[in-house]
Amino acid sequence: MSETLFSKIIRKEIPADIVYEDDSALCFRDIHPVAPIHLLLIPKLEIARLADLKSDEHTEIMGHLMSLVPKIAQQEGILDAFRLVVNSGAGAGQTVFHLHLHIIGGRALNWPPG
Ligand code: 5GP
Repeated sequence: MSETLFSKIIRKEIPADIVYEDDSALCFRDIHPVAPIHLLLIPKLEIARLADLKSDEHTEIMGHLMSLVPKIAQQEGILDAFRLVVNSGAGAGQTVFHLHLHIIGGRALNWPPG
């Protein structure tokens, strides 16, 4: 896959408001938030889309990301009510082709999202 701007954020070549980082994951605030809390949680490994998960390594990474979600939600004060969104593919609204989980909260969240 070709590199995206998220790779530059991982390498700290472009700035981001980072709220969590470890060896395999990075979480930072979305530049165009749709809610008071809008974070992007990404694997450092370049995986383009959720649809591209295929290896045991990918499964392990996704498990790690999911385990981080409640920890980060707690840290951000939204553990009681948050939404996790993954847009997979352009038709679903994906614009950056480096897999990312949107963690959204801090306001009432309606359903269905549309
Ligand atoms: P997608 O539409 O691919 O699911 O989500 C991509 C997200 O990345 C969008 O919500 C967009 O606002 C965010 N984004 C795009 N460019 C940047 C950037 O340079 N910095 C940050 N922090 N977020 C970005």
